[in-house]
Amino acid sequence: MAGPLEVLAHLRKAYGELEWWPVDAEYHRLNATDPRFEVIVGAILTQNTTWTSVETALGNLKVRKLLSAKALAKADLPTIREAVRPAGFYNQKAGYVQGIAKYLWTTFEGDLDRFFREKTPRLRELLLSFTGIGEETADDILVYAARRPVFIVDAYTRRLTMRLGWGKGTESYAELQRMWAKRLGEEPKAFALAHALVVEHAKRRCTAKSPLCPGCPLEAVCKRVGVEATVYLRAAESGNVAKPPR
Ligand code: SF4
Repeated sequence: MAGPLEVLAHLRKAYGELEWWPVDAEYHRLNATDPRFEVIVGAILTQNTTWTSVETALGNLKVRKLLSAKALAKADLPTIREAVRPAGFYNQKAGYVQGIAKYLWTTFEGDLDRFFREKTPRLRELLLSFTGIGEETADDILVYAARRPVFIVDAYTRRLTMRLGWGKGTESYAELQRMWAKRLGEEPKAFALAHALVVEHAKRRCTAKSPLCPGCPLEAVCKRVGVEATVYLRAAESGNVAKPPR
């Protein structure tokens, strides 16, 4: 059975070197703010919503010049609520992003280099201590803002784990992390790329309802668990893949 390294190598060959996380570098250059703070805010806002909605909310924060720890810490809550409204759950999310902004401003004067000086386990623990930051969000921040070698587990990872036949996909977060991070090394870039590849694959091919198995870069190594034969055959319109899912 193919392991994570082989699977990720297939995905890399198919989708290339994906650069994540998207930030508005020009905004931060012009405003002398830290783009890593945008990653932190985006990671919190992206919970239970689409990235398009997050982009709108981030755009609103930028228009109000609130995308820095200092500005967000000092802003009044109704203004933040209004700005992040497109991302949904705006009452809670406004409090979450201001909570960490206040901490970063009062403890480190917004200096993320100082915050990120902590070792990974301690940094993760700190992030998890904030209301509104769960394991996936903490790991998003660790990987894409602090550049640490941590495997991010999300719903796409769980679905792919099940379909590959590696497990049920309902395993604990830590268990799935161990499973996927096996032999991935210590290079932060590899972890940033791995998550981006899994997400790209889940969106482009391995979708929840109609996975496009024929021609999939993982077709040869995937057990297609939970993919109904009818879905598979419908996807195999070209007829050159007739093997039903196991
Ligand atoms: S072969 Fe199908 S089920 Fe397996 S990874 Fe590809 S799209 Fe998903």
